[in-house]
Amino acid sequence: MPSLPPALLLALTLSSGIGSRSAIEPVAASSIRPASSALPGREADGRVARIAFRLALGGRARCPAPAPASGLVLQHLTQFALADRAGVLAVLPLDRGPATIAVVPESPAAVAGILPGDVVLAIDGAALPPEPARTAPFSAATAHVRADSVEDLLAHDRPLLLTLLRDGQPVSVRLVPQAACPSRVFLARSAQRNAYADGRHVFLTTGLVSLLRNDDELAFLIAHEMAHNILGHATVMRSDAVSKGLGRTFGRSGAIVRGTETSADALGASLMLDSGYDPVRGAAILERLGGSDFGIALFATHEPVGKRLAAIAAVAAARRAR
Ligand SMILES: [Zn+2]
Repeated sequence: MPSLPPALLLALTLSSGIGSRSAIEPVAASSIRPASSALPGREADGRVARIAFRLALGGRARCPAPAPASGLVLQHLTQFALADRAGVLAVLPLDRGPATIAVVPESPAAVAGILPGDVVLAIDGAALPPEPARTAPFSAATAHVRADSVEDLLAHDRPLLLTLLRDGQPVSVRLVPQAACPSRVFLARSAQRNAYADGRHVFLTTGLVSLLRNDDELAFLIAHEMAHNILGHATVMRSDAVSKGLGRTFGRSGAIVRGTETSADALGASLMLDSGYDPVRGAAILERLGGSDFGIALFATHEPVGKRLAAIAAVAAARRAR
């Protein structure tokens, strides 16, 4: 399949998360290096989805409100820059519905036989609602709403009949979502180094992911941000005590924020251990990023790195001792 321009993806205006408050800016399509696969440039999406799915499934016993997960990663036409859409449509019929850009191995989507490139036409016989604003410029808010609405249609704890468009022909598959921690994790194509949670979603940038040395480090970032969502920290951060405090670094606000970070580290480490990842190896990313611009943005309100690493190591040691 010919190369697609990279989608801009989702997160550009949702900057009030737990991590950095700076908005994520997209980078030009040409700056993303295409790679060889069925859908070039989408390996990173597949990697993020695979790790997020494993964490969500492995840690599901820790989540008070599990959500059905499918392991299906979809791309929508309005997630591409307006100038790129004609080229996208020449390759994939995204005007018919969202296309599969990645399938997590051994996930419900893989078991159902869904393949990269498959376009979702209907769920249980009902056509997907048309994607609005297809002729409008890329809008993070619109793209996000569309992605969520389709995710909601897939989030059922019963078998779903999906009608797919594959090589121009309709194909039906039976998808049986699995209960997992809520984990809408998205990779935004941006040179910025950022990761944050907004209460429902986790956003990572390609600029950050490119710095990671192994899956444990990526799992660490995802698990930490997922933990913020599981623990409801977005509500805490928006509360008067924090938002009207004298900055997030000082006084009572600072203490509240550091408390959320410490508990997200602990739950994140537990999610990693539940899922077969090594939180100590993953947390090595904290040392490496501590002095970078990313570090200033994301960790200014966190405890010192040494203290965080010690706490994460203690969670891992306690697990080994069981
Ligand atoms: Zn955090």
